[in-house]
Amino acid sequence: MSTEIPTVYGADTIGNRCLNCGNRVLEGTVGVYGDNDGNLHACPECSTYRHLKQGAGWNPDFEPGVNGE
Ligand SMILES: [Zn+2]
Repeated sequence: MSTEIPTVYGADTIGNRCLNCGNRVLEGTVGVYGDNDGNLHACPECSTYRHLKQGAGWNPDFEPGVNGE
């Protein structure tokens, strides 16, 4: 069973999923918080917007307290 919200989410590609938890994210989330290759290493589901803004989304080695607060 899966919950589909096709009008909100983009195409079901790896670029629209969090690489950390596999959660589907809005296309824009990857563009804003992911790295230049379209990879998103953290999302609001497994991290926080505060950490995402500090680099959690594009830095796979991000550690709160080291790279952010
Ligand atoms: Zn995630």
